[in-house]
Amino acid sequence: MKKEKISVIVPCYNEEESLPYFFKEIEKISEKFAEKKVMLEVLFVDDGSKDKTLKIIKDLCQENKWLHYISFSRNFGKEAAIYAGLENTDGDYVTIMDADLQDPPKLLLEMYSYIKDEGYDAVGVRRSNRKGEPIVRSFFANLFYKIIAKISKTEMISGARDYRLMKKQVVDAILQMKEYNRYSKGLFSFVGFKTKWLEYQNVERVAGKTKWNFWKLLLYAFDGIIAFSTAPLAISTFLGILFCIISFILIIIIIFKTLVFGDPVNGWPSLVCIIFFVSGIQLFCMGISSAYLSKTYLETKKRPIYIIKEKDEKDKDIL
Ligand code: UDP
Ligand code: MG
Repeated sequence: MKKEKISVIVPCYNEEESLPYFFKEIEKISEKFAEKKVMLEVLFVDDGSKDKTLKIIKDLCQENKWLHYISFSRNFGKEAAIYAGLENTDGDYVTIMDADLQDPPKLLLEMYSYIKDEGYDAVGVRRSNRKGEPIVRSFFANLFYKIIAKISKTEMISGARDYRLMKKQVVDAILQMKEYNRYSKGLFSFVGFKTKWLEYQNVERVAGKTKWNFWKLLLYAFDGIIAFSTAPLAISTFLGILFCIISFILIIIIIFKTLVFGDPVNGWPSLVCIIFFVSGIQLFCMGISSAYLSKTYLETKKRPIYIIKEKDEKDKDIL
């Protein structure tokens, strides 16, 4: 019988400090899988790191046949790294794991057994708490999940990480979506398949710093909304209709007042307030439309999602 293979995709951006810890952990797990006659292969995706990450990855790959790497020509972001990883691996099962050990490698054994023994197609992982995270960040994260649940048909699981084990079939489905603006959490959910969710306590990063700050996360949340819902466009249409109705009512009131009380010049301050308010709403709605337009513009260019500068030359079939 052909040995089964699990491909582990590890996006790395400036992870020189965490990689040695990561390797130690994944090596342990690989030995455990070897006992089950399952082979583990790791593909490090160096996302244009500016520190010694690539050098560390190259050294590790040289010493270990089961490790591979690809390196981008610049930083393309984690979403691009995930896509590149999915395109460049061929395991029977594929998993995506952060290099900072926030996605505990030991969960992989449990995830594998769900797919193997219980017939799931994919196993996702979600944090049951947000311990160690700033309160403001947690608040906005929860708000985001509440909003997206209301306005999108695609289900987004609160606290879900990109860490998941998937059958090749699921990976192929995800790869069929070649969109440039990638929001993987949504894409994973969009493809469907029978998915099991495992819960675990949040773990803090083993070393190094997170690449996300509040603003980046906020923009990422907007990207998620735009990628998976057109409700904001409907909201702007609704606001337009609402304001037409209000102005119509006001016109009738003013005509009535002028005819009955005969005072047409009153109300300059209120007029100014109304002009400011309504033009604000107009700009807001235009902003919403522009957000969709700009995403469409970027999609139509069909630029590559990532560009590989170098990769290891090991022949994967020898493994
Ligand atoms: N990452 C990446 N490209 C980026 C930013 C991050 O490949 O532009 C990788 C990073 O090296 C890590 C994973 O994505 O393996 C998650 O990043 P991070 O730990 O900073 O995010 P957090 O866990 O805080 O959400
Ligand atoms: Mg992390």
